[in-house]
Amino acid sequence: MPVKCNICDGSAILKRPKTGDALCKDCFYYAFEEEVHKTIIDAKLFTSGETVAIGASGGKDSTVLAYVMKVLNDRYNYGLDLVLLSVDEGITGYRDDSLETVKRNQMQYDLPLKIVSYEELYGWTMDAIVQQIGLKNNCTFCGVFRRQALDRGAMMLKVNKIVTGHNADDIAETVIMNVLRGDIGRLRRCTAITTGAEGSLPRCKPFKYTYEKEIVMYAYFKKLDYFSTECIYSPNAYRGFARAYIKDVEKIRPSAIIDIIHSGESLSVKTSVKMPVQGNCERCGYISSNPICKACVLLEGLNRGLPRLGIGKTHKERRKIEELSKKENSTQPEAAQGPGTTTSIQAPVEAMESLSLDRRKPDVTKLDF
Ligand code: SF4
Ligand code: ZN
Repeated sequence: MPVKCNICDGSAILKRPKTGDALCKDCFYYAFEEEVHKTIIDAKLFTSGETVAIGASGGKDSTVLAYVMKVLNDRYNYGLDLVLLSVDEGITGYRDDSLETVKRNQMQYDLPLKIVSYEELYGWTMDAIVQQIGLKNNCTFCGVFRRQALDRGAMMLKVNKIVTGHNADDIAETVIMNVLRGDIGRLRRCTAITTGAEGSLPRCKPFKYTYEKEIVMYAYFKKLDYFSTECIYSPNAYRGFARAYIKDVEKIRPSAIIDIIHSGESLSVKTSVKMPVQGNCERCGYISSNPICKACVLLEGLNRGLPRLGIGKTHKERRKIEELSKKENSTQPEAAQGPGTTTSIQAPVEAMESLSLDRRKPDVTKLDF
């Protein structure tokens, strides 16, 4: 006898991973979309009239996010202007193909699309970086550069917010990784639904409570056009272990993902724990808890043929750059000091834009070590 949908009494065709409910397709779509809507409303993520950039990689999460944001924006009159924003890391055989998917999504969803590339922003593609550094720390470069690239793209588009497709599984993994690393600063931030509100563009995660399995189901039944190949440079072993661990725990406790997120949200941090103080990078103006941001340190290493600069815990080289940068600043006229003194969002963009040329052609005579 066919199983009935728990909501409408029609024929169920799936069992919801999150609740165990037997549902028909339409009731699943509706339940999925309504939960995302509830997350958006409860957290007051948007205000009518805002322009919101959807970080789009062509993968399942961001493709479903773009689709659902459009559905909810129309259904509930959020009054948002939505745009797709993609970062081209320069990974041949991976990102070039996934960007083709984003371009098709742009047509399918009738949304504007902006693509920013590592090559144009930093003068380096990930292909070239991997040639220099091999496959060990490539994701450190890629992650640091992507974060900044997304912000820069968003600032060029003059958007108010960025939304990303981070889902509940991603957040639970990040909580576990930060616990294992003892990274209290990140542990405290990683469950926030909106981050980066002070001094940089707010980033929101409407899928914070959405299970990855349900995103895959939604994309599959809706026949959404997404790209599912893994990055050819993906070692990311640490996250892989956290993921495998959570999957094991989930077998005996199905609510493990939400429980871990809830634990992360409820943690209180001792007041004696030193938290990083946010400022702006003296070089590029990007938000940073150090005088020179991580992207600038990594880039300096690449440009100088010292790609391990800024990798690992001993930042001797970072300190050298900071000292030299201080000297440079103290010998320059005030007007030329630029980004280090800026506080608004727009000013760092201009500063970063003017810096992109310097980044491609570093003045090696200034920083000698
Ligand atoms: Fe970049 Fe690593 Fe992700 Fe590949 S797996 S896109 S190199 S962060
Ligand atoms: Zn910087």
